[in-house]
Amino acid sequence: MSSLHQTKCMNHADREAAARCPTCKQFFCRECITEHKGRLICTACLQKIDQPETEKKDGAFRGVGRAVAGGLRALLSLVMLWMLFYAIGQLLLLFPDSFHSGDMWKDL
Ligand SMILES: [Zn+2]
Ligand SMILES: [Zn+2]
Repeated sequence: MSSLHQTKCMNHADREAAARCPTCKQFFCRECITEHKGRLICTACLQKIDQPETEKKDGAFRGVGRAVAGGLRALLSLVMLWMLFYAIGQLLLLFPDSFHSGDMWKDL
């Protein structure tokens, strides 16, 4: 590792390199390199990973997809709520009319 100690950081000329970025093959100091998904990577390459070109292209489409998903979730909760009220309504219909009027209790 003696060769690594002689190498300076790409961003800091006065600092010794701590690790080498496997993506851009450049040396970086401890401050400039970060761990990403179990491997070391420089901040510049990490930013490239976080914002891939494909995301910029279909970014609008993803926004629409997210809106549709949100709408579906709202619709689903509405349906669930309606079903709940429907079930309660059906349950109430099961009871005889006498129950509502209170006559049932007189027969007992
Ligand atoms: Zn890199
Ligand atoms: Zn550095």
